[in-house]
This record gives sequence, structure tokens and C-alpha cells, in this order.
Amino acid sequence: MSSINENIKLNRRNFLKMAALSSLATPLLARSESIREASESELKEAYEGSKKVKTVCTACSVGCGIIAEVKNGVWVRQEIAQDHPISSGGHCCKGSDMIDMVRSHVRLKYPMKKENGEWKRISYEQALNEIGEKLASYRKENPESVMFLGSAKMSNEQAYYVRKFAAFFGTNNIDHQARI
Ligand code: SF4
Repeated sequence: MSSINENIKLNRRNFLKMAALSSLATPLLARSESIREASESELKEAYEGSKKVKTVCTACSVGCGIIAEVKNGVWVRQEIAQDHPISSGGHCCKGSDMIDMVRSHVRLKYPMKKENGEWKRISYEQALNEIGEKLASYRKENPESVMFLGSAKMSNEQAYYVRKFAAFFGTNNIDHQARI
């Protein structure tokens, strides 16, 4: 007799079904356990005396429009710029939470290095020197051991330079960072 696992074939269709179910379950759980409507006083506190600043999402080169609400020099809330000529009020998931690039407690603010199991802060100079030295040694040993990943933040011209850099480094191992 075949087991349940054998009967379930994780083909593309099943995978998509499972993904849809889990994405439905997560907001429901979050809603019941941690999300509530803001009170009138909380809403007033966040808005009072704030200034709306037009800006753009920096997560990729599209540059979708964001309205940043700033109070006492602190970015407190964001809205979608409905009248933006590029995004016309649309965002992907990265842009819809762009404010966390600034205020998240887990945001990486400076180069870190893991030594003896512990993360420690290092200077940009040290980080660049160490990465440069390692890349140079890998290139000498075997340039094909390195892979370069581009970035959604790059313009066409920057992407061109990364492609050139990889070629001069001695490898064709290059792709876009979003190739998942
Ligand atoms: S990351 Fe998303 S929201 Fe941000 S600019 Fe690109 S497409 Fe727009």
C-alpha cells in the first residue's frame, strides 16, 4: 500500500495550491493574534504636525512613488503616491514596506564580520580590503569559483559595468539577483 507521501506529487500545480493556502493562513493567524485597529488617539498622534514628502522607493530602478510622512525629522508612516507618473499608485511588496529600510531594528547599518561565532562591527575600509584581497586570491586560484550577482537597484549602465567586471575577472558566472 502506498503511503500518503507517495500519493502526493509535488508538481507545480500542487505547489501553487500549497503556497496559496499558506499565504491565506498567515494573514488570518496574524490578524487574530497580533493585529488590531489603531485607536483615534494613536492615529492623531502619528499624524499631528507631520509633513508629507514625495519620494521614491529605492529597492529597484523603477522608482515607484511613495509619500513619506515625517514628524520631527522621523519617518513615521508611508503611503502610496497615487499620482506618480511611473507607478500610478502601484507598488510591489518591497516598496510597500520601504519605511522599514529606515526604522527596522534588524536593519544592517554597517559592515559586520563573524569571528569565533560572534558578529562584530568593522570599518568600511577593513571590509573593502578584506573582500578585495579574497577576490584577488580566488581569481588567481580559479576565477570560475566566483559568481557575480547583479542588482535590481542598478541602471542599465551599472549592469553593463558589472557584466564587464565579471568578464575581466575571468568568469561567465553572472546573473541577476532576482533569478530565483
Ligand atoms: S522595488 Fe517594487 S515598489 Fe520599489 S521601485 Fe521597484 S517595483 Fe517599485
